[in-house]
Amino acid sequence: MLPAADTVPIDDNAIAAVLERRRLVDAAQVRAVLSKARELKGLEAEDMAALMGVSDPDLLGEVFDTAQHVKQAIYGRRLVIFAPLYVSNMCANECTYCAFRARNTELERRALTQEEIGRETRMLIDQGHKRVLLVAGESYPREGFSYVLKAIDTVYGVTHDEGEIRRINVNVAPLTLEQFRELKTAKIGTYQLFQETYHRGTYASVHLAGKKKDYDWRVTAMDRAMQAGIDDVGIGVLFGLFDWRYELLALMQHIRHLEARHGVGPHTLSVPRLEPATGSDVAAHPPHAVSDVDFRKIVAILRLAVPYTGIIMSTRESADIRRETFALGVSQISAGSRTNPGGYADSARENASQFCLGDHRPLDEVIRDVAALGYIPSFCTACYRLGRTGRDFMDLAKPGEIKEHCDPNALATFVEYLIDYGSADTRAVGERLVEHALESMEPAAKQTAVSMVSRVRAGRRDVFC
Ligand code: SAM
Ligand code: SF4
Repeated sequence: MLPAADTVPIDDNAIAAVLERRRLVDAAQVRAVLSKARELKGLEAEDMAALMGVSDPDLLGEVFDTAQHVKQAIYGRRLVIFAPLYVSNMCANECTYCAFRARNTELERRALTQEEIGRETRMLIDQGHKRVLLVAGESYPREGFSYVLKAIDTVYGVTHDEGEIRRINVNVAPLTLEQFRELKTAKIGTYQLFQETYHRGTYASVHLAGKKKDYDWRVTAMDRAMQAGIDDVGIGVLFGLFDWRYELLALMQHIRHLEARHGVGPHTLSVPRLEPATGSDVAAHPPHAVSDVDFRKIVAILRLAVPYTGIIMSTRESADIRRETFALGVSQISAGSRTNPGGYADSARENASQFCLGDHRPLDEVIRDVAALGYIPSFCTACYRLGRTGRDFMDLAKPGEIKEHCDPNALATFVEYLIDYGSADTRAVGERLVEHALESMEPAAKQTAVSMVSRVRAGRRDVFC
């Protein structure tokens, strides 16, 4: 067994040196990086730094076009849909940017009972969701961490009409190796955790109390998760706390650390930007606010650097920004979200929310919009149920074989959504998209997709390959 990791070595000097060396690059050097990126083998820190400095609008257009090309080559037109499920906003930590922090007296505190979690789940099922991300602050009711395990059981246990939740991803505070083993047994999909900032000085200045003060305990969480057998993990940065250029290169070092130690990197990356949160000055005035142009650059650079890793875009961002980033590399989006525990059943309690949302549209409206843009909303949960996780997933993804599964699965689950939950307008837009998508598929994938879609139309549910 691997010895426990004490830390993930983030080399600040190496990052500073790369950023300095690649501060002034000419157009020819940028184009050389872009043609390397088109080979779909990813980029190194030097290449990423070269792209960070691009400001000329035409050259930046070439960066975005290349990201679009890579996204299309690997993910096609699919966009996976999920909803967060906040079960508790109780927290013992003092993260200055978050409304859930312990000393915030402006927040209405609430930990849902299992019955309430069941009710929230039913609301999500009735909207058509199949994937949820379970989220909690770092303090659980009396039963401790088993509250989270019970919540997972509760969510998986709810069925309503034809629907159920088929994959639960989890975003909760770092766990011990033993707790990660229990989480694995609970059959979660991805374990997700953001380092917030990889810069130790900044980390110390925004995490004032509680267990989260311990940078190393947090940064090594993915090592413990992977050691416990959870091989789909998701990492991320909370953009706005420190210089985004530094954060991207540090994130890359974390990825390389996981690849070297566990043979596979993260399954997903998240790119949350700081949003206003009740009682937080830092959230209202981010010390390193990221502009919309730089935010698009962040997504494009990540897409080029780690082409096979999913990128998640949450409803923190506005509908417009979300639309722009779909083309640049985003592969998963949340929709119809609430960030207050109990928020699906009772939307009036917004003063229990974690932060302000940028996209308030209901799921059906997001689906219609996504479909009208030509993206296929996917509720697919096939991979982890068939054991295609971690290195097995990457082995399929890298030669491009995963598309033969993803495209038919996306269409079958989208048609299931349209029949069971879509409004008449969404069905009309969606059915045109399905027809068009089937026409443009490769023969083998098309044959599989046609057969799966017709089984769904005949009344079968949860059809996947
Ligand atoms: N409590 C756990 C933790 O901190 O890891 C998990 C849940 S926490 C609610 C999920 C994430 O929300 C945090 O990791 C942080 O990146 C993000 N977050 C907190 N405050 C935010 C804000 N004001 N704007 C945007 N995202 C925020
Ligand atoms: Fe608690 Fe997480 Fe919010 Fe920090 S970010 S205060 S740990 S819920």
